[in-house]
Amino acid sequence: MTQPSGKTAAVIGAGLGGLALAIRLQSAGVATTVFEKRDKPGGRAYVYHDAGFTFDAGPTVITDPDCLGKLWRLSGRDMADHVTLLPVDPFYRLCWEDGTVFDYADDQDAIERQIRAINPPDVQGYRRFLAYSRDVYREGYEKLGAVPFLHFSDMIRAAPQLARLQAWRSVHSMVARHIRDERLRQAFSFHTLLVGGNPFTTSSIYALIHALERKGGVWFAKGGTGALVAGMVRLFRELGGTIHLNAPVDRIETEGARATAVHAMGARHAFDMIASNADVVHTYRSLLGDPKGDRLAAKRHSMSLFVVYFGLRGLRPDLRHHMVLFGPRYRDLIGEIFAGKELAQDFSLYLHAPSVTDPDLAPPGCSAYYVLAPVPHLGTVDPGWDQAAAAYRDRILDYLEARYIPHLRRDLMTVRHFTPLDFRSELNAHLGSAFSIEPILTQSAWFRPHNRDDRLENLYIVGAGTHPGAGIPGVVGSAEATASLMLKDAR
Ligand SMILES: Cc1cc2nc3c(=O)[nH]c(=O)nc-3n(C[C@H](O)[C@H](O)[C@H](O)COP(=O)(O)OP(=O)(O)OC[C@H]3O[C@@H](n4cnc5c(N)ncnc54)[C@H](O)[C@@H]3O)c2cc1C
Repeated sequence: MTQPSGKTAAVIGAGLGGLALAIRLQSAGVATTVFEKRDKPGGRAYVYHDAGFTFDAGPTVITDPDCLGKLWRLSGRDMADHVTLLPVDPFYRLCWEDGTVFDYADDQDAIERQIRAINPPDVQGYRRFLAYSRDVYREGYEKLGAVPFLHFSDMIRAAPQLARLQAWRSVHSMVARHIRDERLRQAFSFHTLLVGGNPFTTSSIYALIHALERKGGVWFAKGGTGALVAGMVRLFRELGGTIHLNAPVDRIETEGARATAVHAMGARHAFDMIASNADVVHTYRSLLGDPKGDRLAAKRHSMSLFVVYFGLRGLRPDLRHHMVLFGPRYRDLIGEIFAGKELAQDFSLYLHAPSVTDPDLAPPGCSAYYVLAPVPHLGTVDPGWDQAAAAYRDRILDYLEARYIPHLRRDLMTVRHFTPLDFRSELNAHLGSAFSIEPILTQSAWFRPHNRDDRLENLYIVGAGTHPGAGIPGVVGSAEATASLMLKDAR
């Protein structure tokens, strides 16, 4: 096949999807320039350095390491030269307030032993759920996860499989068909929250996440996810790509059915092809001035997150790297996060304790953490975060101290937080959503903003807002789908 040499492309945004796309384009010979608004690359995978601690701002659970390795193999390189992935075991420790603990890893015997201890009949049910999860993984992820859905006929082609897999059901209802214990239902349905989906309304196709984790494992980049981002940037630069930081794009210029240039850093930059990794509502509304932005704004958007990053004196050997701390309510709390009228008093938390895997993220003898609570986006509940944040942070820290991290306050060396307002202002995220458009069935695949715009023939979308959706494997898969279109069009 001919190389698209001589062609140029701009990628707006250096999130993981934007970087993966830039690497794919540059590897194929397209001279690619990335424009990133912030002072560091990574997007949601930003990094803070406070008082000797390294805090990954966002993604920490790396699944499907092969989708990342492929980015290096495209140019005959080896990811291991730039990034070291460390296995995380258990994948997660799940904890409930009644004292139940469930360590979840790729160990069938250990999983079944723990299920049996909670509710023996659920062992058979779990086996059936796992078989279902593997089936959707093959159909939904392996076959369709990196393929663009540009035409309704693409959707029609997938329809028989979606029907066979009962994609209209929710993840929770599929889990509940097989598993009876309430805690176990939570253990096998909460994963949709990792990609911005409500387990009670997200299509059961997302049950594939369980099989994805069982198959590919859960990994953590040595040095943190920031080291993965740095490795991707290094690869991109070694391939000859250009990345501008502190370079927000103000406008995408168009002429007829073509996108012709981006306006950034006080200048006009012309390109043959333009891809946006920025929030889709921001892209269409603010960068293109296209009424489609208002239509996208009216869609259902994922919840936001409230994240607290903190460093402690001392180590906490009783904690595990990834912990999910279920609160007193599940269905009702999630209902309030997605459609409530006010900020709930209780919460369920994800606690990240990366020093368990990589002690270098904290000064000697210390340990780094972040804790996040899913919260409504600003269109659902806006408690006035500027005022409310400190009290909410303190409630979360008090809860952790009372139940999981004794003497947290005494040992606290540094703390910072990130609210829905920050998602909006720092990342241009519509309504401060943490994961873009909500992954319900009627907003997935062809129903999601397309990887190539329907009207502008050389404008493309990459990242959480397009197919297949949020999460590292999702946005890296979107880069594969978008790159396949761009390279075909360029040739
Ligand atoms: C706290 C948190 C924890 C998470 N944990 C996990 C996890 O453990 N595992 C997992 O797989 N996923 C996780 N996710 C989801 C995952 O991080 C995201 O889905 C993914 O990183 C989004 O990547 P993206 O390519 O869509 O780009 P984004 O990260 O959204 O980056 C978009 C970039 O565009 C830039 N931008 C915006 N506007 C402009 C403009 N006008 N000009 C130039 N640049 C612009 C932004 O500054 C940003 O850098 C988590 C998300 C969050 C928020």
